[in-house]
Amino acid sequence: MYFSTRGQGDGLTAAQAIAQGIAPDGGLFVPEVIPCVDDAFLLGLQPLSYQERAAAILHLFLTDYTVDELKSCVAGAYGDGKFSSPAVAPIVKVKDNLFALELWHGPTSAFKDMALQLLPRLLSCALKKNDEQAQIVILVATSGDTGKAALEGFKDVEQTQVMVFYPEEGVSQIQRLQMVTQEGTNLKVFAVKGNFDDAQTGVKRIFNDTDFNAELADKGFKLSSANSINWGRLVPQIVYYFSAYADLVQQQQIKQGDKVNFVVPTGNFGNILAGYYAKQMGLPINKLICASNSNNVLTDFLTTGVYSRKRQFYKTYSPSMDILISSNLERLLYHVTNKDACQVSKWMAELNEAGEYNIGETYLAAIKEVFPSGWVDDAETAATIGRVHKEYGYALDPHTAVAWQVAEAYRRQSGDATPNIIVSTASPFKFNETVLAALAGADSLKTETEFAALSQLADMINRPIPPALAELEHKPIRHTVVCSKQDMPKVVKATLHITE
Ligand SMILES: *Cc1c(COP(=O)(O)O)cnc(C)c1O
Repeated sequence: MYFSTRGQGDGLTAAQAIAQGIAPDGGLFVPEVIPCVDDAFLLGLQPLSYQERAAAILHLFLTDYTVDELKSCVAGAYGDGKFSSPAVAPIVKVKDNLFALELWHGPTSAFKDMALQLLPRLLSCALKKNDEQAQIVILVATSGDTGKAALEGFKDVEQTQVMVFYPEEGVSQIQRLQMVTQEGTNLKVFAVKGNFDDAQTGVKRIFNDTDFNAELADKGFKLSSANSINWGRLVPQIVYYFSAYADLVQQQQIKQGDKVNFVVPTGNFGNILAGYYAKQMGLPINKLICASNSNNVLTDFLTTGVYSRKRQFYKTYSPSMDILISSNLERLLYHVTNKDACQVSKWMAELNEAGEYNIGETYLAAIKEVFPSGWVDDAETAATIGRVHKEYGYALDPHTAVAWQVAEAYRRQSGDATPNIIVSTASPFKFNETVLAALAGADSLKTETEFAALSQLADMINRPIPPALAELEHKPIRHTVVCSKQDMPKVVKATLHITE
């Protein structure tokens, strides 16, 4: 069963928790028990494909789904050439004791695909199991990566419709083209006049508008969201921690039972929390190292026990980590306090009202034991991209570069010689501007178009441009509507053919 981190309500099945997304009391759904695995289970994963490993691990959490249902969801998400690497999430040895777990071989070249390819299928299956008749309408406000990954994941998935709102001025050229060329019969993309906050506020307003929701329900529609608070987005991420470990044992880089560290470039704390679940389940993980950019709210929290969102917000080279409120931390607090929902609710209320909370020495010590942390600024990020490419011939995107630098600092300071696995969250091509500048200097940016820049980067790092990015140059534009924040409810209704 799944329960809210804030303690209200009865237990739900996984299918119910996934269909609901967020708990009615504002909490996040967490599993009542974290399943444990033994050595035999870990050894058993080794000969399996990524899809088979995924089905085995998902089955431990999604106990109300049949094995056949899970296999079919997993095949749809990761099979059929969806990922350009047959390994789906390959692990690459960059130097002794240092590996990169590449999570960006999916259709949008960023790690959001790992979860957003699977979530829609788990959701669609959940709707059948729950005998839900309504059409589910997914509204997404995006600063770039999530919107495209949601579009690709929900494309043509039964009983769902997707509408993505991106800031007209706020996304890169590649990100915009990825979205406005999107194919699919159940989706629409809109540019919103303004910045990301305008798009986000517009979507939040629609979610909170009771009358609007009632009108939609009347016509057979229910709103939902695809962001990382949904358990159906978190659980797919547990899989690649196990898969990476199985691969390292199989490649004889480590022995079964040896410990490893994972270093995770972190924003909303979803990715690294999946690693925590893997550790609690019995995967031999030593440390989960939390890497941040200049928005270092998590580094401060993991050092002092005080989480404070009262701070300046920075736009950085690693925009997917530009976050001040890491929602998934709430799940960690619930587990670390041994399910003290009362305490968690109190902290969340303090965060909401006073802008900060303090977990105190005892809980801090327990969290620190597992989660060392560090942060780097843009200048260091760029320097790291340049240095790692020069020394090892390996190209990092800015998010992964943050993790790399934090990993090296951690090793120097702690003397911990456990093998480090850097969780690599985006293809360098997705952030070609920053990567090109870091490798070749600002002059390199004088190239005529985004596509010329992609080619230049491909030559420089000696890797092929991901086909889905290269194709964008010749794809027809399908989505051209621009709307104001105020018009968003109207746009939603028009898309659903609801007339006044
Ligand atoms: C979303 C994202 C992150 C942050 O992951 P969280 O689960 O939010 O901590 C890091 N890197 C990239 C490229 C991302 O898209």
